[in-house]
Amino acid sequence: MLSLLALAPLYLALTPLAALCATLTPRDATYCAKGSPCFPSAADLAAFNTSISGRLYSARPISSVCYAKDPSFNPVACGELQANNGNDQWRSDHFGAFEQTQWEDCNSQDQCGNDAASFAAGQCGQGRIPDYFVDARSPADIQAWARFVYQHNLRPTIKNTGHDYKGRSAGDSGFGLWTHNIKGATHDTAFVPKGCKEKYDAITLLAGTQWRQGYEFAESVGRTLVGGDNPQVGAVGGWLLGGGHSFLSTAHGLGVDRVVSIDLVKPTGELETITACSNPELFRSLRGGGGGTFGVVASATYQTLPRMPIHALIAPSLSLGVGNRKNNAVLAALARITPDLNANGIGGVCFISSNASFTLLAMPSDVGDMAKLKRLTKPYADSLVSLGLLHGGNLLNGNAGAALYQTYSSFYDFFSTTFGTFNEQVGAPIQISSRLIPTKYFKSNPQGAADAVQASLDHIASSMNAGVQILMGPPGPLAGGFKGVTSVNPVWYESAWHVIPSATWAPNAPASVQQATTQAVWESGNMLRAFAPDGGAYQNEVSPYETGYKQSLWGSEANYQRLVKAKRQVDPKGLWEVWNGVGSSGIDSGRYSRCYKQNAPRGYSP
Ligand SMILES: Cc1cc2nc3c(=O)[nH]c(=O)nc-3n(C[C@H](O)[C@H](O)[C@H](O)COP(=O)(O)OP(=O)(O)OC[C@H]3O[C@@H](n4cnc5c(N)ncnc54)[C@H](O)[C@@H]3O)c2cc1C
Repeated sequence: MLSLLALAPLYLALTPLAALCATLTPRDATYCAKGSPCFPSAADLAAFNTSISGRLYSARPISSVCYAKDPSFNPVACGELQANNGNDQWRSDHFGAFEQTQWEDCNSQDQCGNDAASFAAGQCGQGRIPDYFVDARSPADIQAWARFVYQHNLRPTIKNTGHDYKGRSAGDSGFGLWTHNIKGATHDTAFVPKGCKEKYDAITLLAGTQWRQGYEFAESVGRTLVGGDNPQVGAVGGWLLGGGHSFLSTAHGLGVDRVVSIDLVKPTGELETITACSNPELFRSLRGGGGGTFGVVASATYQTLPRMPIHALIAPSLSLGVGNRKNNAVLAALARITPDLNANGIGGVCFISSNASFTLLAMPSDVGDMAKLKRLTKPYADSLVSLGLLHGGNLLNGNAGAALYQTYSSFYDFFSTTFGTFNEQVGAPIQISSRLIPTKYFKSNPQGAADAVQASLDHIASSMNAGVQILMGPPGPLAGGFKGVTSVNPVWYESAWHVIPSATWAPNAPASVQQATTQAVWESGNMLRAFAPDGGAYQNEVSPYETGYKQSLWGSEANYQRLVKAKRQVDPKGLWEVWNGVGSSGIDSGRYSRCYKQNAPRGYSP
């Protein structure tokens, strides 16, 4: 029921178009917004809709069905939304929903809250939800959308799953593309990338495939894919284009290190297979240049690994409150073993909040056996035991008070039993910041690294759901091998920890609370930056207000400018861009000032 409403047919939007023309103006000289004279006429839209088999829709924010005065009001659909608000898959199944709800909103004057108080207040603004979108079902649909956008100078927005932490898959006055329903996977035991000689055992995934489906497919053909920690994140969209971090990255690299071929619909609409041999510069740009910038990935092909057992350490623990030394001791113990974890390809995650921590480390069996994992992690596990911190009722039925070591028959077995079962927090506003911390700091000053993370956690502790996530970086056995080959910040290949402070606010919190939370989380990221000034940040998991973002996300002005040059080749009009992406026009431009300025932290400098 709700999906029918969310995908309201085109005619619903055409009725008010004439009325809107008088009041709306284009938001940016570089693109044409609904309501401006240059926007396609109703006849143009109708003809385009026919040409793509009726797949053009008008869009409204997902919560609009709960607003009694909204044309899309529907109590049944509203009930469905409320029942599924925190369900990651459900949100990604709906174009008008984003995982972090602030990206459905624009600013405090233009939003559509998902709480009872907002429903009662009665106004559902369009926020950052594009006015129209194409529900693409094939590369040909993507091409038609791209050509229409380019012909009419529209603002392109691409939504795959809507997980983006910077709102890059949303966009006010956008003309959206939704890739979610183009799903599929194929396996080739002897894949030869176009123009190349090497052969790979490879899996090709279509644009809308999510990691759960990618993992299920890999398992079914007896292979392993290096993919995201979250089953709902898209397998070949923003995750790949921004870097692509995995539990297996420490041993086997990032998504950008594993990809061998990309079918790309360029901004001008041509479909081209891009590989390291056929178009090396564009391929490099796609390996880290970021989503929504160089075109649309219609499919991508990853080299695979054999299906293999995964050895894991699972250590949920309790701690005693903000600033306590036990919490710090957990961090310090982890920091001390980090160089060994890294050098030996052991990946994983540690969540830490003011009252609990949870660690999950994973070692693929091609880099070591269980005895090795136990030996390398023993000092950490012993610290947790001696601190009396291991959870009484151990997760996954381990022995109470002991770290659980477990071998899983495959990555799929590991993932679907552990991390893949967690429903990460979505359906709420979430603010993050982050820092990549190079391995050298863990060798020279592990206590300092622990203190920096502890300080960043303490700084946000009074915010709602405050916590810090530590992901093990990719140096590992592949260290340096892909430096410069991909376009991600090269510091990725030297960084042992990717640290992410985060906090939320209540959906109906006043603007002052939103701003205060954003400010605190942003400052906590700056505290990590102060500890590791020569680190960097991961463009997919970073504050939307990252200071000096070109340097932070790409490592140097030279790397950034090289990407700008490559982008010009595929997008001569400069129509395609995303917030703080390559070629982004900045906070004062018409494209971003309305929605990004209000919550910008004091002291923010792009
Ligand atoms: C709960 C959660 C868990 C996460 N876990 C991980 C993780 O384990 N590892 C990790 O590295 N990151 C992780 N992330 C971050 C994730 O990489 C980013 O959110 C990423 O942007 C998601 O890409 P998407 O395509 O799924 O999402 P979207 O929000 O739909 O898209 C993100 C960006 O990519 C662009 N884009 C999407 N599809 C295409 C396409 N086909 N062609 C071109 N551009 C496209 C969009 O325009 C947008 O700019 C996580 C995020 C969340 C919210």
